[in-house]
Amino acid sequence: MSNDAPNVHAFQAEVAQVLDLVIHSLYRNKEIFLRELISNASDALDKLRFAAVTEPALAEGHALEIRLIPDAEAKTLTLWDSGIGMSRDELVKNLGTIAHSGTKAFLAANAGGSGDLNLIGQFGVGFYSAFLVANRVEVVSRRAGSDEAWRWESEARDSFSVTPAERDVRGTTITLHLTDEHADFASDWRIRSLVERYSDYVEHPIKLVSAPEDDEAGEPSIETLNREGALWMRSPSDIDDDAYEEFYKHLTHDWEASLARTHFKIEGNQLFRSLLFIPKRPPFDLFDREAKHGVRLYVRRVFIMDDCDDLLPTWLRFVRGVVDSDDLPLNVSRDVLQDSNAARIIKKQLVKKVLDLLEDIAKNRPEDYIGLWNNFGRVLKEGLYFEPEHRDRLSKLLRFASSHHPTEQTSLQQYVERMKDGQPAIYYALGASRATVEGGPHTEALRSRGYEVLFLTDPIDQWAISNLEKFDDKPLVSVASADLDLDAAASDDDREKAREADAKRAEELTSLTDRFAAVLGDRVSEVKLSRRLSDSPVCLVIPEGGLPSHIERLLRANNQDVPKTPRILEINPDHAVIRGLERIDRGGKSGEDVAELVNLLYDQALLAEGSPIDDPARFARGMTRLMSTAVSSGRAKKSSAKPTDAAASEAREPEVVE
Ligand code: ADP
Repeated sequence: MSNDAPNVHAFQAEVAQVLDLVIHSLYRNKEIFLRELISNASDALDKLRFAAVTEPALAEGHALEIRLIPDAEAKTLTLWDSGIGMSRDELVKNLGTIAHSGTKAFLAANAGGSGDLNLIGQFGVGFYSAFLVANRVEVVSRRAGSDEAWRWESEARDSFSVTPAERDVRGTTITLHLTDEHADFASDWRIRSLVERYSDYVEHPIKLVSAPEDDEAGEPSIETLNREGALWMRSPSDIDDDAYEEFYKHLTHDWEASLARTHFKIEGNQLFRSLLFIPKRPPFDLFDREAKHGVRLYVRRVFIMDDCDDLLPTWLRFVRGVVDSDDLPLNVSRDVLQDSNAARIIKKQLVKKVLDLLEDIAKNRPEDYIGLWNNFGRVLKEGLYFEPEHRDRLSKLLRFASSHHPTEQTSLQQYVERMKDGQPAIYYALGASRATVEGGPHTEALRSRGYEVLFLTDPIDQWAISNLEKFDDKPLVSVASADLDLDAAASDDDREKAREADAKRAEELTSLTDRFAAVLGDRVSEVKLSRRLSDSPVCLVIPEGGLPSHIERLLRANNQDVPKTPRILEINPDHAVIRGLERIDRGGKSGEDVAELVNLLYDQALLAEGSPIDDPARFARGMTRLMSTAVSSGRAKKSSAKPTDAAASEAREPEVVE
C-alpha cells in the first residue's frame, strides 16, 4: 500500500513517539494491553447506554457486552463490543491522534526514555498498547445509528488506512494479529486468567468465545468470565484490595496502584455512592490549566460523564474516582450541574470524605503522607486560599520546612508544641528558597531567641498563608513584616522602657537616617531603626499589604501588572557599621563617601533577601573599593609575613604603612 493512497493516513507525530515509548517501557507488562482494550470497550458500552437515554432506538439490536475471541490457529485475538462505535472521522481522529494537552511536554521530558514512564498511562495511550503484542491491528467499527462500517488498519508505526467495511450491528471489533512471541494470547486459558485478574469488576459482561473442541461440532462455546456489576455498588467488605486496585487502574489508566481510597454511601437528601482514590504520583498536567480533572459521574449505574469537575473543587483535582447518584436526573448536563443544589450537596460530602481520608493518612501512615504532601501539597494549599471554610481542617494538613530540622517538614501542630515560653507567634519566612531565607537578616533576632521559623518557599504560600491568620490561637507572623513584635510577652513596664530607649536612639540617629533616606530616594518608603537585627547592619521589610519581592518578580514574569512596593529599610542601631557611619556623619565627612556606603548597604540588603540589585556594576565597584581598603590594612598588619612565591611578590602593591 503506498502512502499517498487516499485512504492512508499518517499518524500525528506524537502518536509515533508515544508508541515507541509504550513499546520500550512496557515490555515487561505486555499483558496490560487486554485491560486497556477491555476498558475502552466498556467505556464504549457506557457511552451507548447514555446516548440511549434520549434515543432508546440506539440500544436496540444487541445486548451490551464484550466478547473475546481467541483463535490459536490464526494467531489472532479479537475483542468485540456492542458499544457506541466510531464513524470514519472518529476512527481517524481517535486512533490517529493523541488529544492530551500535555503530550508534547511529556514527550520532551521523557525523550530518550528517561523520566517517569509510569505516567504514560495518563496520556490516553490505551489503544496503542495493542502494539505491545500485535504487529498488525484491524479495527472494524460501526457507529450506533449509522449503517456504515469502516475498517482501520495499521501495521507500521507511522501510518494507518481506513476503508469501507461491513458489520452487522453497531460497535467495534478489534483484531490483533499477534506476533509469534505473543501467540499465547490467542489461548483460552490465558485470556480467562487475565480477565479474572484484571477485569473482574467491569460492569458489562465479558464473554469468552471459544472455538468448538472438535472442528466438526460447529457451535463455539460462550462463557461469561467476570462477575459484572459496578464495583462501587458492592459492600466494601466484599471487595478485596486487588479488586479495588484493578478497578482503579481500569478507571484512571494509571499503571501503578493508588496510594489510598475511600468507598462510601451517603444517604439523606441526596443518595449517592462514591469510590475515590488518591494516586501515588501526580499526573503530568497537575498544573496545566487546560487539563481535565474530576470524577466519573454515573446516575443510577448509567455512565453520564467523565471528568466531572463540578463535584470536586480544583484544590482536590488530584483525586480520581466515581460518583453514582440515585437522585440526579439521567439527562443531567454540565450546565445543569453547575448551579444545581444537588451537585453542591454531593460536592460538600466528597470534600468532607477526602479530608477525612487525608487526615487518616497523616495520622496513621505518616511516611505516605509526606509523599502525598510533596506531590499534592501545593494543590491543597490552593484550598486555603479559595475556600477558607475548610481552613481549620486544611491548616492541620499543612507541612512546611522549618529551622527545626534540615530536611524534615513540620506540621503547625508540631511547631506549636515546640514553641518557647513566651513566644508570641508562629513565625514564617517567605522566600524563593530555603537558602535565601534561612540565614537571612530577618530571622536573626528569632534565631537568637531560639524561636523556630517556617520556611515558606512555594510561591503559593504567600496566598495560602494570607488566609490563615491564626493556628491554635497563635497568630502567624511573617519575619519580614513591618510590625514584627518579638517581645509581646514582656511586661508593660519593660515595653515602655524599651520604647523610650528606642525613641532616644532614633533621635540620636535622625541625621543619619535622613541621610539614608536622601540617598535612597524612592527606592525605599521609609528608613527606621530595627529591633530584629543582631549580626546584620540593615534589612528590607515589607510594608503592610505589600508583596514579598520574589512574589512580585514571579507575577511580573507571568505578565501580571504588579506595582513595585518600595520597602522599608531598617537599620540596626547597635551594629558597628551603623555606629561607624554615625561617626562619619557627625564628623561632617564628605557626603559622597557616606552615599557610597549607603548604596552598598541597600544593595546588600537586596541580595540578602534574594532580590536582584538595580546596578550591579555600582555594587561591584563599591565592593572592590572596600576590599582594597581591607586588604591593604590587612597587609599592613601582617607586613612581616614573607611572600611565598615570585608571582605573589610581583603582584604586591607598595606597602601601606600606617
Ligand atoms: P483513551 O481511552 O484514554 O481516550 P485510547 O487511545 O485508548 O485513549 O482511545 C482513544 C479513543 O478511541 C477513545 O477515547 C475512544 O473515543 C475511542 N475508542 C477506543 N476504543 C474504542 C471502542 N472499543 N469503541 C469506541 N470507541 C473507542
